[in-house]
Amino acid sequence: MIIDGRKIAQDLRADIATQVALLGRKPGLAVILVGDDPASSVYVRNKGDACKEAGFYAEKINKSSDITQAELLAEVERLNNDDRVDGILVQLPLPKHLDASQVIEAIDPTKDVDGFHSENIGKLMQNKPFLRPCTPKGVMTLLATIGVGLVGKNCVVVGSSNIVGRPMAMEFLNARATVTICNSKTQDLPRKLKQADIIVVAVGIPKMIQGEWIKQGAVVIDVGINRLDGGSLIGDVDFESAKEVASCITPVPGGVGPMTIATLLENTLIAYRVREEK
Ligand code: NDP
Repeated sequence: MIIDGRKIAQDLRADIATQVALLGRKPGLAVILVGDDPASSVYVRNKGDACKEAGFYAEKINKSSDITQAELLAEVERLNNDDRVDGILVQLPLPKHLDASQVIEAIDPTKDVDGFHSENIGKLMQNKPFLRPCTPKGVMTLLATIGVGLVGKNCVVVGSSNIVGRPMAMEFLNARATVTICNSKTQDLPRKLKQADIIVVAVGIPKMIQGEWIKQGAVVIDVGINRLDGGSLIGDVDFESAKEVASCITPVPGGVGPMTIATLLENTLIAYRVREEK
């Protein structure tokens, strides 16, 4: 089965819009974009469009690439104190002269809808999650929606970045799966993958994972987004060979990507409800 991430994300967004229509104040999301990286600009535009469609208050803040660390931190602080804003997202990557980690730590953890603040990552690690990183959480929603059970399963996560691989592994562990986390130094990756009931790949190398490395009937989730010279997008998995052995597989585009945005809205609604209850 090819997993239709667009449809599952659309359903989630429609459900969020229905909930938002019943609220007095609109949930608010502020997105800060520094510089004019084309891919980041597209992601920010898509997030803004999704917000408006779901009935959110959306604020897009464009800053030039020569903004100083202090100016960026001041902007985050302004948003921390803005009552219309429930969620703050700083689009990554930031230009080299800025310290992304310090900026993320400056976001009020209750408004950290990307789930990257150390407080939110720590809560996920302790299996007391609050705001969870969007891409791994979106993968969990995909798997739950198509009825993939995780208890006792062998999950292999290829890639161990702070934004995808590590929190993905924690999600699986919290779901009582057995988890293997791979990185660029992992020995004999094909053998590790052959053990996997569920594979998540977030590396950034086009078509790296071959169908012959995958166990018959495994579930394959491809997080990778690689832009080819002609502009088209492909994943980290060789889709053609992998779909012959996988029981379920996500396409790129149309798999994990739409879930990331829908989950961002979901997190913003969670942050909104927590602030309203205060
Ligand atoms: P990073 O570059 O931060 O991390 C890549 C990870 O892959 C690192 O842990 C690295 O290992 C590992 N890696 C590199 N080469 C190999 C190899 N040969 N074998 C095994 N592991 C390897 O990437 P991100 O996590 O930020 O993103 C990964 C991909 O996912 C990108 O294509 C990105 O565009 C996409 N992405 C998609 C999203 C979506 O919504 N669909 C959201 C976020 C990202 P090491 O630690 O040793 O360097």
